[in-house]
Amino acid sequence: MSRVFNFSAGPAAVPVEVLKKAQDEMLEWQGSGMSVMEMSHRGKEFISIAEKAEADVRELMNIPDNYKVLFLQGGATTQFSMVPMNLLRGKEKTCYVNTGAWSKKAIKEAKIHSNVQVSATAEDTGFTSIPAIDSWDIDQNAAYLHYTSNETIGGVEFQSIPDVGDMDLVADMSSNILSRAIDVSKFGVIYAGGQKNMGPSGIALTIVREDLIGYAKEGSPSMMDYKNHADAGSMFNTPATYSWYLMGLVFEWLKEQGGVAAIEARNIRKAEKLYNVIDASDFYANPVELTSRSRMNIPFTLANPELDALFLSEAKAAGLETLKGHRSVGGMRASIYNAMPEAGVDALISMMSEFERTKA
Ligand SMILES: *Cc1c(COP(=O)(O)O)cnc(C)c1O
Repeated sequence: MSRVFNFSAGPAAVPVEVLKKAQDEMLEWQGSGMSVMEMSHRGKEFISIAEKAEADVRELMNIPDNYKVLFLQGGATTQFSMVPMNLLRGKEKTCYVNTGAWSKKAIKEAKIHSNVQVSATAEDTGFTSIPAIDSWDIDQNAAYLHYTSNETIGGVEFQSIPDVGDMDLVADMSSNILSRAIDVSKFGVIYAGGQKNMGPSGIALTIVREDLIGYAKEGSPSMMDYKNHADAGSMFNTPATYSWYLMGLVFEWLKEQGGVAAIEARNIRKAEKLYNVIDASDFYANPVELTSRSRMNIPFTLANPELDALFLSEAKAAGLETLKGHRSVGGMRASIYNAMPEAGVDALISMMSEFERTKA
């Protein structure tokens, strides 16, 4: 067996230690005589797995007690609808910041339920920067302001939490959750799909301040009401038990790495060395403004796009997979989430340098 370095944007690489642990426990979880997949979600074994996952992520993110942590189905995309369906509280207006492809999808969905004011957009720069906050057009009476903390496709990331006064702030953190320290108390809602930084797809982690729960729009399906999930400990219906368990293993792994601060330091090192190679060369380029660059998703182009296919095949031969850029951007994209070891970035850098030396 030989595992590659997988630079996929999502579903993405999972730490090998997590996969091995899941393998060890596949047939029989800790003396229970069965796989986690086969357990009742109401049984004491699964309840202990579920509670540990929640406790670990609360510890990792330092989540205050007045926030609920929900393990929901339908990925981050379902949260695009659940956020407006639950947070309007009788209001009609919402504010959204448009920094790229994922913001656009969130906006499109919010428009079904609310009157969306786009407070800022980076469309005129081709989504290569984050609009300066003093230019944002915020309506303080809107129900909330939503932004995408890391644009997975464009490779654009907020380096700090925008200060929007007393307004409730909502963030889609799908592709940078747990990669850097953040102050949860600044948010009304944080949500993230699992498959970038937390393991499997199909499950979303949603962190909601308690006072925002209980206001689902009349007529909302039960599954779309945060209150039903919060009241039932995310077991309103049968939860995605195996995905929840795997997420828990990723949280355990993160704690073993030294927690979010330690992984953040590693992420800074990984991103810096890759950007340094791109910036030092006339052969590779990244279009994103320096202060808006993502530590997680690093798109880059080759000066001669005719070499793209050769680059990808040589990368593959070197055990470096899924580097093809998103179809809307072209070129390459290296997604280097928490689970990408520093050795993977080093291997990519040496392959890039060798490719430039021999093909430029
Ligand atoms: C991947 C991604 C999503 C969509 O996640 P799904 O789980 O496929 O619904 C939403 N937002 C961002 C920023 C993403 O990276």
